Amino acid sequence: MERRLTYALPIREVVSAAIAGSTDRFPVNRIFCVGRNYADHIREMGFDPEREPPFFFMKPTDALVSGQNVSVAYPPDTENFQYEAELVVAIGSSGRDVPVERALDHVWGYGVGVDLTRRDRQIEARDRGRPWELGKSFDQSAPIGPLKPASECGHPARGPIWLDVNGVRKQEGDLGQLIWSVPEVVSVLSRSWALNAGDLIFTGTPAGVGPIVRGDRLTLAAADLPQLSVTIV
Ligand code: MN
Repeated sequence: MERRLTYALPIREVVSAAIAGSTDRFPVNRIFCVGRNYADHIREMGFDPEREPPFFFMKPTDALVSGQNVSVAYPPDTENFQYEAELVVAIGSSGRDVPVERALDHVWGYGVGVDLTRRDRQIEARDRGRPWELGKSFDQSAPIGPLKPASECGHPARGPIWLDVNGVRKQEGDLGQLIWSVPEVVSVLSRSWALNAGDLIFTGTPAGVGPIVRGDRLTLAAADLPQLSVTIV
């Protein structure tokens, strides 16, 4: 006889992201982020952009805010809250030790997102050899725009990526400048984690990161992916 599981607390809804032009939602599993993946941003952070293996950090699903126009609360515990515009990869099928030439088979689609950062906490952690969670993995630190399936947008390997703050261009790069391309990132990641459907990967930011305050409005896009607007409240 089948027994239904019961829970001691109300069950959280599945965390999910909007899909452009669809009422379906993309169920989100984990959120991976690549550090230092554009040479000009590596230089502005004070490092030498030699092609070291990519490194990763994660954000919890509580960090996700999804939509076309979203609001994010200015977080506690920072006086240097910064934006990082990034291409976001949505994984559609599981895989481990995926070779580069098969990596795109595991990509369901793409979107743009902001890797919101408490820069003061991140730099403290970096300089003291501590984990990055305080700087990177706080509530609402991962707003993303509507996702587009690769069946509609293909796999954008080049095209402008940009971010405006209050209508002023702050970040401008090209997806072709990624030090580690999307297939390479997926392949390397899959050697350390078994990738699963629903995983998201933030692929790194070009130069031009900077501080934002309450009332600021970020607008960003990459290639032909849907724009995202984020208001800091
Ligand atoms: Mn980043």
